[in-house]
Amino acid sequence: MRTWISQCVKMHTKCKRVVRNKLPARLIDVSPFINSKDVKIVDSDAGESIAQYVTLSHCWGPPSKHPLTTTKSTLRERKERIKFEDLPLTFKDAVRICRDLDQKYLWIDSLCIVQDDEIDWEEQAKMMGSIYGGSLVTLAALSSSDSKQGCRIHMKEDKLKYKLKYGPGYQDFNFGSQRVRIFTDEPGRWPKIYGDNPFKDSGGYGDEPLRTRAWTLQERELSLRSIHFADTDILWECRTMRGSSEVPWQEVMHYYEEARFAPLKLHSGESLSPDGLVFQRDRWYDIIEDYSSRSLTKESDKLPALAGLAAKFRGEQAGGMYLGGIWSHHLPSALLWRTITRSLYARQPPLPRRPKQYRAPSWSWASIDGQISYNSQRIEDTDFYSEGGRSEITTIHCEFAPHFDLFIAPPDSALRVRGLIRRLKLSLEPTDNGEDSHLQLVAGDDGQKIGKFYPDIASEMQSKQYIFCLSVRAEPHISPVKFSFGESLEASAQALIMGLALLRLGISDTYKRVGLVRELKKSAFNGTKLVDLKII
Ligand SMILES: [Zn+2]
Repeated sequence: MRTWISQCVKMHTKCKRVVRNKLPARLIDVSPFINSKDVKIVDSDAGESIAQYVTLSHCWGPPSKHPLTTTKSTLRERKERIKFEDLPLTFKDAVRICRDLDQKYLWIDSLCIVQDDEIDWEEQAKMMGSIYGGSLVTLAALSSSDSKQGCRIHMKEDKLKYKLKYGPGYQDFNFGSQRVRIFTDEPGRWPKIYGDNPFKDSGGYGDEPLRTRAWTLQERELSLRSIHFADTDILWECRTMRGSSEVPWQEVMHYYEEARFAPLKLHSGESLSPDGLVFQRDRWYDIIEDYSSRSLTKESDKLPALAGLAAKFRGEQAGGMYLGGIWSHHLPSALLWRTITRSLYARQPPLPRRPKQYRAPSWSWASIDGQISYNSQRIEDTDFYSEGGRSEITTIHCEFAPHFDLFIAPPDSALRVRGLIRRLKLSLEPTDNGEDSHLQLVAGDDGQKIGKFYPDIASEMQSKQYIFCLSVRAEPHISPVKFSFGESLEASAQALIMGLALLRLGISDTYKRVGLVRELKKSAFNGTKLVDLKII
């Protein structure tokens, strides 16, 4: 771990902090007493100059297993002394690792944020970018589902027995100053151990407990360097390199690996440079897909637990307002998400549902708890960057845009749209296409099937016979979704539309989003005129 950190600090140009960040309000001093392992909380502005600190990323676990916390009534006593024996195992491990790394300060959310002080909580929650981004390294208890399981490897018994019997899978030989490692087993690949699979809708996120929690996504993404304590190995991750204890020098990072779909260009002028708009947009869609697969204890944390990442994203890109999880400069394509109700190879995702209390307008994915896919914005072939075709929407803007912030999407925040809209009949029985058991087909006036409808929440559509479809943009030439209405590729390209499925509220011009429409024959809009409508 020491070597990883010192090499990264000294040699990796990509792993430098850009600005000197503000320190978190409080830190844990891991060695304040002579001849005692006890620790205490210190205010970061209390005189002593604090050069660096380590952060911890961990699962809180169910309420019965919640970690030791600081509250208004315990703050004073925590600043005097916290007995080492009183710390849960994960915290003890983190303290020990800090001392081994000669680090004096550690930040742990449950102890360094006063949990029942709303102002303190909100202030610190908004600072996550600089708290994790400014730390020397984040220790991530990846395989621990609560604070009592430690920062350590949790190897399953059969794997452990195998390792004890057959050794670690490699042997080191020294030749003078050179060391050679010979593998007797194929070493584990970083993404596999971590649970990073490019095919996310097939359950690619793995089962490591820390990966299933919403708050911890930004803790990983914002950190310059992380050491993950996974199920079978210790993993290093920084902006330049990933390694494991087996292959410590393993691989240079690629966000876009060969196996994944390529992002969709929206017009020919878009640059495909790694820092350009196309990849930036895809990076955000990626974040949302990962984030939406995770769970929250408090439904109302959906936007707050992403706020640190949203702030970082805003800092890195030009323009664009943040509208409840969607960026204004990604409109209208950013509306073309859909919910996932089935995983082909892994644990089934929970059925999508609406939160009990209003959280975001229906056009934002944040209005739903459930796994989201942006595959409408990707194509299969990495060599041929298809364009998505002309946008069918002529104007789009958000009425209450200035009232949004990183935490809040104001109620009834309407998207004003001018576009083509058409009423379509729904097939009564859902169709199972293997990927989605709630898929429904839509039909034209003559009863012919002319497109696919993916409901956001299937149960909401049970008694509905019609939807309105707003035409958003043409389907790309090569889409991960296969054309299925018997047309040849040439004939169908640009002749099929992606759109939003809407329900009209009363007889007004106001609509609510209820799903995504794909592969809809463009001819369905023949004879329709541009209309102005409001989506809330
Ligand atoms: Zn590095």
